[in-house]
Amino acid sequence: MKALSIHQPFASAIIEGVKKVENRTWGYLSLTGQTIAIHATSKRWNPGLLEKSQIRKLWPKCHDPKSFKLGCILGTVRIRAILGVDDPAVRNDPWSTGPKCWLLTAPLKLRKPIYCAGKKGLWTLPDSIEWKMTRSDWPTPKRPKCSCESGKQVCCLVSTDLGLVQGCRDCRPKGKPIF
Ligand SMILES: [Zn+2]
Repeated sequence: MKALSIHQPFASAIIEGVKKVENRTWGYLSLTGQTIAIHATSKRWNPGLLEKSQIRKLWPKCHDPKSFKLGCILGTVRIRAILGVDDPAVRNDPWSTGPKCWLLTAPLKLRKPIYCAGKKGLWTLPDSIEWKMTRSDWPTPKRPKCSCESGKQVCCLVSTDLGLVQGCRDCRPKGKPIF
């Protein structure tokens, strides 16, 4: 499974489902549909007053920045699309700045974050971390819908050639249950 290291509080905003757009200078169409891990960097957030008020405007429930977990995997998210900043799907999103907008969906938050070092760019999780993830608790108040035609809720993770993918009971009957 691939992972993206993101500074706080943005990593948490993504995992909480508040921030649905991740801005990058790059993005490949082949990433569409992939599930990736969201890693919070170890850098502590040190916002200016203006930055803080802007974040609170977009995320009223944003808690004390000091409480954001650092240097760990927070959970997973699925890349729904890689779009240009002018695309109607992201144009009016307040988090969207581009030039490439990664439209994210189906955030899944680990009950306990998994601490590990991050890297730049899209990096591959070590086997040991992926192993821990498949055996972790995956509670979530809202189960995301599966990307298959069944329309059922995601209930499992399966190891495939492409890494870990989410699935429902219909399309991934042998998946490792996560709920
Ligand atoms: Zn399915």
